[in-house]
Amino acid sequence: MNAERNKSEISAWIKHRSVELGFAGCGIAEAAFLSEEAPRLGKWLKSGMHGEMGYMANYNEKRLDPRKLLEGAKSVIVFLYNYYPEESLDETNNYILSKYAYGEDYHFVIKEKLGLLISGLKEKVGPIEARTFVDSAPVLERAWAVRAGLGWIGKNAHLISPKNGSFFFLAEIITDLELDYDIHKSNDLCGTCRNCIDACPTKAIIAPRVIDARKCISYLTIELKNEIPAEFSGKLENRIFGCDICQDVCPWNNFSKPHREDRFRPHPKLLDFSKTNWENLTPEQFNDIFEKSAVKRAKYTGLTKNIDFIKEGK
Ligand code: SF4
Ligand code: SF4
Repeated sequence: MNAERNKSEISAWIKHRSVELGFAGCGIAEAAFLSEEAPRLGKWLKSGMHGEMGYMANYNEKRLDPRKLLEGAKSVIVFLYNYYPEESLDETNNYILSKYAYGEDYHFVIKEKLGLLISGLKEKVGPIEARTFVDSAPVLERAWAVRAGLGWIGKNAHLISPKNGSFFFLAEIITDLELDYDIHKSNDLCGTCRNCIDACPTKAIIAPRVIDARKCISYLTIELKNEIPAEFSGKLENRIFGCDICQDVCPWNNFSKPHREDRFRPHPKLLDFSKTNWENLTPEQFNDIFEKSAVKRAKYTGLTKNIDFIKEGK
């Protein structure tokens, strides 16, 4: 088999296997320096918009060049994994969790699947170097998704897939295997829409595709370890872990289809959780309900701090 044919067949096999594993999208880009993103990232960091997320300012060489994350890297394979729920938890007069945090921690669910894909790939092509990333290391995931032809970055700074909207986790395999690369279409289909900018309760989208993380509810409720500044009192719209508002109002999410991942279903106890339950949450209940959840990241003290902040700001 000639090398070109081999590359195409292996690339097609990866995409086929990704569908079998439940991924909703898979694209492949050539590993290279992200020259367009480098000045944008530099400007954003210089302005301090990353707030307390000091890790964002580290490892920039690696963040901008996958060959610094894996020696000899040739390809970045990008995957989309749907987390759009069949039904939202009750949001009427209730505290709200971001949809991505309803079920089991996506890091584990997706890493497992990428591990299976790499095992199969190694069986097919022999020894290769490959590293998996799920929101866990310095990788500019959205930039790679665009390069891999999976969509564009909307004004809300999320990756938008023209077929499926934006309720996806992004994950990558960086490998030294040379593959067929997808065509990078940078078509921005936001047009004149500005729903996300107008709907953001804290005005965190300061320009198309530029989020001041220090004002973003996701940052305030998950990343910020100190007290939430008083200027956000009454503005969190009951969000206690993350925020989906700029995705909920995006017309491209009218095309979202429910995921089929059992592990992303909410813990049964959350189904009838009311404001009173949240306000009386005990550490034991927290550990029970969120044992396998990404909400653990906020810890009991962080989650109750968010609840108290909203309650007091009523
Ligand atoms: S996640 Fe919420 S707070 Fe952050 S930019 Fe979107 S709408 Fe604004
Ligand atoms: S809400 Fe409108 S402007 Fe914002 S990302 Fe979606 S299409 Fe683009």
